[in-house]
Amino acid sequence: MTSHDTTLDDSTSFDDKPFAIDAVGLTKIYGSGNTEVVAMRDASMQVAQGEVVALLGPSGSGKSTFLTAVGLINPPTSGRVTIKDKLVLDGESAHANLRAFRRQHIGFIFQKSNLIPFLSAAENVQIAMQLNGKFLGFARRRAIELMDYLGVADRADNLPSMLSGGQQQRVAVARALANHPSVLLADEPTAALDGQRGRQVMELFAKVAHEQGAGVIVVTHDQRALDVFDTIYEMEDGLMHKQPHKVQQTTH
Ligand code: ADP
Ligand code: MG
Repeated sequence: MTSHDTTLDDSTSFDDKPFAIDAVGLTKIYGSGNTEVVAMRDASMQVAQGEVVALLGPSGSGKSTFLTAVGLINPPTSGRVTIKDKLVLDGESAHANLRAFRRQHIGFIFQKSNLIPFLSAAENVQIAMQLNGKFLGFARRRAIELMDYLGVADRADNLPSMLSGGQQQRVAVARALANHPSVLLADEPTAALDGQRGRQVMELFAKVAHEQGAGVIVVTHDQRALDVFDTIYEMEDGLMHKQPHKVQQTTH
């Protein structure tokens, strides 16, 4: 391949596309007066389509506060969140159809799987698609396909309470991926998984980012899987820092 080639690999040029996530100046204050906690201070992050970001930092540093703000679950006190060129949050005022927007564009994986206890594993995945207008047959097929990929298809018709913590988390991952989200956010998703499954889940996130152009942020403590990520950010005492580029271990 020469520099004169006229065809460019689309996946390598992010420049002409909007960011998947553009979070600018997010500040979050919980409580007031004596009980006031500034959980996040002027935190910003840009995530390109197809980019996979790890978010590190000690407990209490504001990672979940940041992620739930970007995930349109817990709005910031001030700051702006733009998802794929749409300004969805401007401080506490929000896009008119925030819930519908969230359902269509954002996949969120919580620390605990958060499955609906009276629905089967497959129904938990299906319902995410049915709420977006997909028919049952389609939703069921895709749910089983995703669960198969994640190694939990054999538990499709069990209630969450009959699954292990790790299995429940894999069902939650399937649910988050069901609608091909443009943004995938995961808050310590592999805490309940063993090392190998944890890595598989991280690799799956990277695959979703690279193949579907999703912007992905994963809060993690797992140092072993960091090579899966394109970019690493760290939070400390509510402040967001981008870490310098990983040094390539190549010899010349
Ligand atoms: P992390 O995910 O990095 O552990 P969090 O975002 O959960 O950090 O919390 C950041 C800070 O905000 C902590 O000091 C925490 O105690 C505080 N905090 C989080 N949620 C609330 C809340 N609902 N009310 C009051 N303080 C909160
Ligand atoms: Mg947290």
